[in-house]
Amino acid sequence: QLERVGFIGLGNMGFHMATNLINAGYIITVHDINAGNMKKFLDNGIPIKETPCEVAESSDVIITMLPSSSNVLDVYTGPNGLLNSGSHLRPWLFIDSSTIDPQTSRVLSAKISKYTLKEKKDYAENPIMLDAPVSGGVPAAEAGTLTFMVGGMEEAYVAAKPLFLSMGKNTIYCGGNGNGVAAKLCNNLAMAVSMLGVSEAFALGQNLGITASTLTKVFNSSSARCWSSDSYNPVPGVMTGVPSSRNYDGGFTSKLMAKDLTLAMTAAAEVGFKCPITSEAHDIYRKMCEEGYEFKDFSCVFRHYYSGKDE
Ligand code: NAD
Repeated sequence: QLERVGFIGLGNMGFHMATNLINAGYIITVHDINAGNMKKFLDNGIPIKETPCEVAESSDVIITMLPSSSNVLDVYTGPNGLLNSGSHLRPWLFIDSSTIDPQTSRVLSAKISKYTLKEKKDYAENPIMLDAPVSGGVPAAEAGTLTFMVGGMEEAYVAAKPLFLSMGKNTIYCGGNGNGVAAKLCNNLAMAVSMLGVSEAFALGQNLGITASTLTKVFNSSSARCWSSDSYNPVPGVMTGVPSSRNYDGGFTSKLMAKDLTLAMTAAAEVGFKCPITSEAHDIYRKMCEEGYEFKDFSCVFRHYYSGKDE
């Protein structure tokens, strides 16, 4: 029952995710507002549709991989959106893998559950939505090694697992609707702050006369060891194959990091939770974007924020 998959949002991540589903044998239909992104699929004989509504008409499952909450709302509820074919929907499952705010995700899943299925299934009378954002970035999307963190009905998660495992290697069930994106925002908050901590410490170390490679050895066998020190080191020349070794190109942009921190702060405000460190980190990444580094990898905080001493 999961064979016909409609994929919407064929950008840096979605292109590879849809390609991996095709390679795994799923019957795919695609849509993107950018015609150039659809052409790559058309050239390979994959059907393209001009609107999300048309994708829904020919799919059992929908996957969306879009930049932000407003794009997700456009695709679902906008004119010619996925929910625009009357009160009965063909797809029984809607999976949104975009990183958006938990509230939008929860409102959308509640809305979707009020529709009826065109063809009732044994396991579902109404369509179901899962939020399933990913971690791993573009290289993991290409290699099919993403981690999916999933919120929504557990039975739907179990049914969708083969799809996730065609695009990734880990899936973690996080609880009810919105919990997948909540987990993603918490993960990125911790990553943003640890990258700043490691960058500040390395910059101080250099100012105190310790080389970055020596300090890396110390960190990676001591209590400061973390992903930012041992897998994604921000100091050029310390590691190969990471954005810092190629002028901070490729990877996860400062713009997306600033967006995710905005989402984390908004989600925190909604539940009355104070997060001063997140707010400080957000200011730094936002300032980097304003200074022209929005499309550089977020680890460029090391060079552009902690570049040296005060004059
Ligand atoms: P992207 O900007 O490269 O791709 C988004 C695609 O969506 C584009 O092709 C765009 O044309 C399309 N799109 C936008 N609005 C649309 C609409 N209304 N209708 C149809 N198509 C529309 O973004 P990306 O890097 O692929 O990221 C997608 C999501 O994944 C984001 O939420 C991002 O935060 C998250 N994410 C990205 C990374 C990463 O490393 N790039 C890692 C993890 C999670």
